[in-house]
Amino acid sequence: MTFDDLPLHDDLRRAVRAIGYTTPTPIQQQAIPDAAAGRDLLGIAQTGTGKTAAFALPVLHQLLEGPAPGHRRPIKVLVLAPTRELAAQIGDSFGEYAANTTIRHTVIFGGVKQHRQVEALKRGIDILVATPGRLLDLMGQGYVDLSQVSFFILDEADRMLDMGFVHDVKRVVEKVPSKRQTLLFSATMPDAIVKLSKQILCDPVRVEVTPAATTAEKVKQAVLFVEKADKRKLLTSIVSRPAVQRALVFTRTKHGANRVVKHLDKEGVAAAAIHGNKSQNARERALGGFRDGSIRVLVATDIAARGIDVDGVTHVVNLDLPNVPEQYVHRIGRTARAGASGMALSFCDREEISYLADIEKLIDQRLSTVEKHPFKGDFDRSADPSLRPPEHGKGGNRGRGRGGRGGRGGRGGRGGSGGRRPGGRR
Ligand code: AMP
Repeated sequence: MTFDDLPLHDDLRRAVRAIGYTTPTPIQQQAIPDAAAGRDLLGIAQTGTGKTAAFALPVLHQLLEGPAPGHRRPIKVLVLAPTRELAAQIGDSFGEYAANTTIRHTVIFGGVKQHRQVEALKRGIDILVATPGRLLDLMGQGYVDLSQVSFFILDEADRMLDMGFVHDVKRVVEKVPSKRQTLLFSATMPDAIVKLSKQILCDPVRVEVTPAATTAEKVKQAVLFVEKADKRKLLTSIVSRPAVQRALVFTRTKHGANRVVKHLDKEGVAAAAIHGNKSQNARERALGGFRDGSIRVLVATDIAARGIDVDGVTHVVNLDLPNVPEQYVHRIGRTARAGASGMALSFCDREEISYLADIEKLIDQRLSTVEKHPFKGDFDRSADPSLRPPEHGKGGNRGRGRGGRGGRGGRGGRGGSGGRRPGGRR
């Protein structure tokens, strides 16, 4: 399938061709026809799947097919996103896809002065991309009129929930006309999002893409057994290799991220951290440096990394294994983007072997072990009985099935929408 097979305006087809997209991603193939026909949509997908184009293209298509904008430009499309980074990325994508049109958009978010945002609103725009807090603020001041909105998009709804924005979202929804098309995207579907989707969507098409299957094929994955105290030294030796051109390193905590950056700096490796305690300026500087190559190693926590969109990440390094196995899938999806190949290396210390077990169970795949490395611990997966190689040469963990490991009841595992494991460490 190509973009020519999708019901899209020619101006949009030319734009995606110019960007270099040839084949629509699975979520685009599934979502665009119905969304372009005006149906409500529930998209279960995370960043990296091409979800932005899956909602942006069909909405732009309908704007182009509709009447030409008059002198006064009321806001017709409202996109809500949980973070400034994501809002900015969505704005950039609308800009790229609408490059051959006269459609105008702007992005508003908090943490910066409002003057320029207000000026853009006053000039008139068709599409507004916003984080909920600043949007409500500017609505309260009378700068935003949502009475003409006919397309409402809610992106990363589960993250909105995590960040405590659900009430804000509901307040915004009250101001959007009920006669509208609504597209809701979420990486996971906790109960509160199921409830919200029932409230705001009308007879939606449900589209789901499973990143575990799509990314795992393109990402080479391996585990390195290492004592906790040696992890930073091992990291230095890995990121010093020339093949590691752009590495995203994950730690479980903000402190951990800072410590790693300090260590790498001392070793002469250009690195920066990105996490919730960093100011907006520091985050943008770090991301900018990572994009332009002046910083080869970006160290992030899971929350901070969601919504970051940097192509060309050659390596993802899990300095700490996540205690929620779904996070592993999110993390490795940061490399091997848009058809490129990538490598995910996971450091596993003695205490993390059970986390490795949960990850391998979720992805239904056994990670290969890097046997030779300078800081190899004198332990391996056999420290956990459920991870011992199968007897009689049976392949991988296939014989284990997905139903759990006998006799290890009560250890959590997957459970619903990514439930945290009991006893998980922080
Ligand atoms: P998203 O999930 O929307 O954040 O998109 C992830 C990345 O994939 C972005 O860098 C997009 O520019 C890129 N992308 C989206 N759709 C396609 C496509 N059909 N072909 C190639 N790259 C794409």
